[in-house]
Amino acid sequence: MSKHTFSIGGVHPHDNKMSRECRIEPLPLAPTVYISVAQHIGAPAVPVVAVGDKVKVGQVIAEPGGFVSAFIHSSVSGTVKSIGPRADLSGRPSTHIEIAVEGDEWLETIDTSDTLVTEIPADNKAILDKIRMGGVVGLGGATFPTHVKLSPPPGSKCERVIINGCECEPYLTSDFRTLLEKGEQVVVGAAILKQVMGGVPCTIAIEENKPEAIAHIREVIGKLGFSGIEVMEMKMMYPQGGEKQLIDAVMGRQVGSGALPISVGAVVQNVATALAVYDAVQKNKPIVDNSVTITGQCAPKQANLLVRVGTPLRYILDYLGGVPENAAKVISGGPMMGRAVANLDAATVKGTGALLLLTEKETRRAPESHCIRCGKCADACPMGLEPFLLNKLARAKDWDAMEQNAAQDCIECGCCLYSCPAQIPLLDNIRIGKGIVLGNIRARAAAAKAAAEAAKASADAKK
Ligand code: SF4
Ligand code: SF4
Repeated sequence: MSKHTFSIGGVHPHDNKMSRECRIEPLPLAPTVYISVAQHIGAPAVPVVAVGDKVKVGQVIAEPGGFVSAFIHSSVSGTVKSIGPRADLSGRPSTHIEIAVEGDEWLETIDTSDTLVTEIPADNKAILDKIRMGGVVGLGGATFPTHVKLSPPPGSKCERVIINGCECEPYLTSDFRTLLEKGEQVVVGAAILKQVMGGVPCTIAIEENKPEAIAHIREVIGKLGFSGIEVMEMKMMYPQGGEKQLIDAVMGRQVGSGALPISVGAVVQNVATALAVYDAVQKNKPIVDNSVTITGQCAPKQANLLVRVGTPLRYILDYLGGVPENAAKVISGGPMMGRAVANLDAATVKGTGALLLLTEKETRRAPESHCIRCGKCADACPMGLEPFLLNKLARAKDWDAMEQNAAQDCIECGCCLYSCPAQIPLLDNIRIGKGIVLGNIRARAAAAKAAAEAAKASADAKK
């Protein structure tokens, strides 16, 4: 049977899944964790603990700061030492709650046993509340609060839930290991998501380079007896796991410019998010840890570790043997979409899925030459954009023209950069322009909203 894939662009980087045989091992607790209150898309959470407070694992330490925001829980037991600004993975300051670790005492309400709970509560509203209270956010990179994504706006209807198990980025293996080692929990999580969205069909999409995971999840679905959940074998193609690309591949539907997946009837959740949903709903366990792949040619050791949220990166790397001398860069995430880590004393967040160590040789870019108009970047772009043109416009600072040419639709996948024989830093330039274009779009929307409100207030005053 032909394998499923998306219809536009894409590239085939070597998958380099060097850590695929590494089981997920719990990382011993660090002496101190630093938990950011801004680890999701939306408003930062607001701390509800004070310096000197004693906390347990799973206790709420910060509450949502708005509708699109998320609860933050302590990942350890111990004493709150400080609350204040600290550099995050990108080097930008954000509020962190510093906790000195004492023992490992969990809230009594959390079921820490290994017992698999397959009976799903009937009340969808209660399920959504548990997901919200569990601080569940999209763990595939976007960190969008999951309970918001599971509450479609009036007039829209979900027709299919897609669980993204593609893990199409080279090097990353934590989702693959999760499918193998926590497959039952992922399938129950998928069944919960399916129920919440009205019992629609559910597809668990897994790339063909993970045959063990495909076979295992098919077996688990049969064993647990959930109906309406299927595994779809996907072609190995980057970025197969991109949300819009996956919807195209699974449903044959195109999400329009600026539109959400729900506009074509899709809700997409990552494998790790499905596991977090299981934990929150069936075990009362909020997100306090996540699986992190540590990999790369110069990694001290290949590993998949279960890491408590807020653990300093240096502590993780020291546990594996330290940062090797030939490591020139640490990337949070994969080589295509990951971001360089500015500071190894920064701490993990819920969305930290991988640390990739690169040598100086691997990070060295060949000198840039002139565009030869080969069109390879446009052929590779899965969003149907013209990266050579967007690059030119970004360099000319022509933000209006960038918007007219849909720079805001760029998913920052890096396919254009990967394909360019002239080594032009296409992604770097387009990313800068995209940020400005999105800022302009938001400013216009805010101005339009304010004008409409002012007009309404004036009309009301005249009545
Ligand atoms: S980074 Fe943006 S412009 Fe480049 S290929 Fe990906 S979507 Fe297209
Ligand atoms: S791939 Fe590079 S050289 Fe070819 S058209 Fe695009 S920018 Fe120009």
